[in-house]
Amino acid sequence: MGVKNRYSKMLKRENLRNTSHRQSILEVMEASREPVSAETLYLTLRGKGISISMSTVYRALDVLVERNIIAKTDFTDNNRSLFEIKREEHRHHLVCVKCKKIIPVTECPFHEYASALEERFGFSITSHKLEMFGYCRKCSKDSDEK
Ligand SMILES: [Zn+2]
Ligand SMILES: [Zn+2]
Repeated sequence: MGVKNRYSKMLKRENLRNTSHRQSILEVMEASREPVSAETLYLTLRGKGISISMSTVYRALDVLVERNIIAKTDFTDNNRSLFEIKREEHRHHLVCVKCKKIIPVTECPFHEYASALEERFGFSITSHKLEMFGYCRKCSKDSDEK
């Protein structure tokens, strides 16, 4: 669960069939920490014993780019394109109740917990929110001085 589930949700959200080729392409992209070329994808998939043609890879990439699931970057110098999964900007916030300052926090410790909850309750979690309230550095210092 977890990763695979997330891809099928992404595909479902865009009304795309969750074909094994699309799924495999997204998996390879996720596993590689940097953007990959269509050729690298093709070779990696073949290396995993997946029977796919170069034209299928190109076609799948086109669809995924069109639906905004992956991003394509063109490098005009060597005529090459690289692809990577678009990550949703997911963040939490620290909200100062005194000066109302909002500090964004980009780390999220909840993804694994969410998977555990999905399993436990048979619930399909699509998002979550978390805001923490308190005093920012400046405001907590001000109140100490009183
Ligand atoms: Zn404050
Ligand atoms: Zn989160």
